[in-house]
Amino acid sequence: MFAGVKEDLAGLEIPQDLMNRIIAHARQEYPLEGCGILAGKGGRIIQFYPTGNTEKSSSCYLMEPEEQVRVFQEIEKEGLELSAIYHSHPHTTAFPSQRDVDYAFYPDSLLLIISLMEKTVPQIRAFQIVKGKIEKKRVKILEEK
Ligand SMILES: [Zn+2]
Repeated sequence: MFAGVKEDLAGLEIPQDLMNRIIAHARQEYPLEGCGILAGKGGRIIQFYPTGNTEKSSSCYLMEPEEQVRVFQEIEKEGLELSAIYHSHPHTTAFPSQRDVDYAFYPDSLLLIISLMEKTVPQIRAFQIVKGKIEKKRVKILEEK
C-alpha cells in the first residue's frame, strides 16, 4: 500500500457549472492539451485552477511549475485537498497515455481526462494511478438545483 493514499477516493463529484468551465478551458486550448488543478473535499470539487501547458503540445502536457506551486499554496490556504489534476486529450480517448502514467506524481489525487475526440460530446473519465497501475474511478456530475 502506498503511504498516504486516502481510502475515500471512490471518485469525483463535480458541480455542473465547474464541469462546463473545465470543458470550456479544454476547448479554448484545442488543438493543444489544456491542463489544470481541481481542489475540493473528499472528492467533491469546489475550486478549479486552469494552468498553462509548458509543452504546448497536442499529445502531452506539463503544468507551468510556478503556477502549480502557487495553486498548491492556495489550496492549502483555503483548507482544501488536491482532488485531481485534469488535462485534455484533443485527438485521443479519455484514457491515460504511457506518459500520463510515467508522470503520475500525485498518487493520492485523481487524474481527470477530458477527451475532445468527439467534439460535441466530450468524454470525461477519472483515474487513479499508483505505481504504474491504472484504476478507473467514478465521475458524478452534480446538477444544479
Ligand atoms: Zn494524457
